[in-house]
Amino acid sequence: MKVTLQNLTKIFPSRDKKSGKEVVAVNDFTFEIPDGKLIGLLGPSGCGKSTTLYMISGLQKPTAGRIFFGDDDVTELSTENRGIGLVFQNYALYPHMSVKQNILFPLQNLKGKDKMTKNEMLERAYEAARLVQIDELMDRKPSELSGGQQQRVAIARALVKMPRVLLLDEPLSNLDARLRLQTREEIRRIQKETGITTVFVTHDQEEAMSISDMIVVMKLGVVQQIGKPQEVYDNPTNLFVAKFLGTPPINVFNGNITGGKLYIGEEAVMDVPGVEDQAVTVGIRPEGFELADDGKLTCNLSNVEVMGRDVSVVSTNDASVNPVIRSIINADNKIDLSQTTVRFNLKPHKVFIFNAETEERLYVEVK
Ligand code: ADP
Ligand code: MG
Repeated sequence: MKVTLQNLTKIFPSRDKKSGKEVVAVNDFTFEIPDGKLIGLLGPSGCGKSTTLYMISGLQKPTAGRIFFGDDDVTELSTENRGIGLVFQNYALYPHMSVKQNILFPLQNLKGKDKMTKNEMLERAYEAARLVQIDELMDRKPSELSGGQQQRVAIARALVKMPRVLLLDEPLSNLDARLRLQTREEIRRIQKETGITTVFVTHDQEEAMSISDMIVVMKLGVVQQIGKPQEVYDNPTNLFVAKFLGTPPINVFNGNITGGKLYIGEEAVMDVPGVEDQAVTVGIRPEGFELADDGKLTCNLSNVEVMGRDVSVVSTNDASVNPVIRSIINADNKIDLSQTTVRFNLKPHKVFIFNAETEERLYVEVK
């Protein structure tokens, strides 16, 4: 089921009587979510992810804009009639009911032509339970399950009605690191098996990058960039997106362009032929550095952290915006820790230049 968001906007009235300022939680969001894909809605806390999801679900009414499921305009439709499955961060299971009863619950409320017989309901419930691999726990109470198992029950409950669209709001946040990894792979598997169009909300860039067909990066209610995870990582549209994606994060420097050369501090690190002289902000991905005795960028060596196949070289530079620079180098490179400086050449496709004021990307050829 294709889902279309058309100029979707949500404005909340002010909570703070004094300032009287309203909150534009989601600002003019337009996007066509392709059928059968998993979309990661990504951004820091408060950027409007949940509000977007709640508008798609019908829990919140947009201030402006329309929502379509396929060709149906569902903007005015109630949550129950949209055919969606919803999963929240806190599993919200009924504690006094067994797993089976929890999963059956949405089916028992179906009315009219959708009404099912007891056997049909049981069959559906077991099918959903098998999909998330909890069919052996059907008689337990939620309190007798681990967090990961409880979240699977919540997912089964969302799937049992065979929703047209599956909406997940930070579904892994309450799980410990290991379970988070495992459960996100499960969600991806289930999504692929069922082919249900899914919107997955998270503030965790790694999580979004690893399971999404496409990511939508938001900031203060405004969509910054939409694309395949790798494309967005390789081609960020502004400094915010560049900084939000990647671990270790991108290294940021104050720089300037003078006479067709890009300077970091006093050093000309790259050629940017034909580009006007100006102050810029330079982002360099950790994997964008190459050790070289005659490297163009000189940094003060602080430390080398072993990461197995790679090492992370930690260094400083007066032009660096972050306290330290982290560069990821193949562990075959031997670094003499007694030396005080380390020199790098830069890989052009890992260097992004931004307007120092607007923080928008300057699309220039870097050599
Ligand atoms: P996210 O899920 O990305 O953390 P939200 O969508 O929950 O962000 O919130 C976006 C913005 O809208 C925030 O500034 C938040 O404080 C505000 N907001 C969310 N819900 C309400 C509400 N019911 N009333 C007033 N403001 C709200
Ligand atoms: Mg939220």
